[in-house]
Amino acid sequence: MQDNSEHFETNAIRTQVTRSGEREHSAPIYATSSFVFNDAEHARALFANEQEGNIYSRYSNPNNDEFVQKMCLLEGTEDGIALASGMAAMFLSMASFLKAGDHVLACRSLFGSTHQIITQVFPRWGISHTYVDIDKPDSWETAVQDNTKVLFIETPSNPALDIIDLEWAGKLAKKHELLYIVDNCFATPYLQTPVQFGADVVTHSATKFIDGQGRTIGGIVLGTKAAIEEVRFMARHTGPALSPFNGWILSKSLETLSIRMEKHCDNALKLAQYLEKHEEVSFVKYPFLPSHPQYDLAKKQMRLGGGLVSFEVKGGVNRGRDFLNALQMISFTANLGDTRTIATHPASTTHSKLSDEERMAVGISPGLIRISTGLEHIDDIIADIEQAIRASVPATQIQG
Ligand SMILES: *Cc1c(COP(=O)(O)O)cnc(C)c1O
Repeated sequence: MQDNSEHFETNAIRTQVTRSGEREHSAPIYATSSFVFNDAEHARALFANEQEGNIYSRYSNPNNDEFVQKMCLLEGTEDGIALASGMAAMFLSMASFLKAGDHVLACRSLFGSTHQIITQVFPRWGISHTYVDIDKPDSWETAVQDNTKVLFIETPSNPALDIIDLEWAGKLAKKHELLYIVDNCFATPYLQTPVQFGADVVTHSATKFIDGQGRTIGGIVLGTKAAIEEVRFMARHTGPALSPFNGWILSKSLETLSIRMEKHCDNALKLAQYLEKHEEVSFVKYPFLPSHPQYDLAKKQMRLGGGLVSFEVKGGVNRGRDFLNALQMISFTANLGDTRTIATHPASTTHSKLSDEERMAVGISPGLIRISTGLEHIDDIIADIEQAIRASVPATQIQG
């Protein structure tokens, strides 16, 4: 492995596992469940943690290590652990530090399964929670209890794309000695590095922009050596290991993360600017549009505005549905952060189990459409959205 660079791109490309005797240029896939000990003393030392090295791929594997090493450099953390999915990362990033009687403080607009863990799984083990609203920062401090251990946030939020002030939340966490965890999936380390603002632990669904091509599921937890030791203990014994093949894909994907993010963000900004002028669109949310309520904050903590754009076509749930059915090129699928542009309608899919009030509390209006802007030519993305908006105009409106 070469010396670390001060540049994102170089670290993402030039961090590599030690070359084998075959002198390969690109890292091979270490498809092996276990690793051979030199002798009895070597085995003993490895198990006693006196020597570093691979034992068994549930614990570690060279491909996953390469992925982790790169992510540590990109996020600015000491250590990390690669896991089988984003949800394994979200779960272990909290569960590794919590016990019965503890309390979690979290922002209300969370990824759906993270919400399920906090509201359905943790209560079975006596772990309670309070949700706080992004637009009511004053309420956060009053929600802190004596038994609060963790502050868990996502920014930008999904799908409303609201922004939490990472530095402000970091100060709050520090003041109350909370473990400050940030799900940095939407931004990726190319756009924002929460550790810089005081985060103790950073989590990712690597399934999204990190893979970036819709090929695999994966996750990662990053943080201080001491924090990751706790997560590693839990992961090693409960088993959500990332397969070497997926670790290899994700490490390779990082080589192009910077140029992909530049393009995702460029396409997303152009799409947002286009939608903002559209007469059939009631509002557009994009962090780097000056009309975004937290534009200045987004500019402060993010390099670019991200790959997601949310907007509402006039006409509520039915119009939203008709719009999706009319799309021709853009994919209708439950993913984001892909080379292919993806549209979702949260009110009838991912957030359909919430009441109208609960949806509005996290910024999901009935006709809200979320676009994960891909890497196709921007003219083709806009053309498909334009024809779908036209095709979904209610018949009464055409006649009238
Ligand atoms: C997708 C996603 C997750 C879950 O990740 P998986 O890889 O699907 O398990 C968690 N948080 C956010 C913000 C996500 O978008």
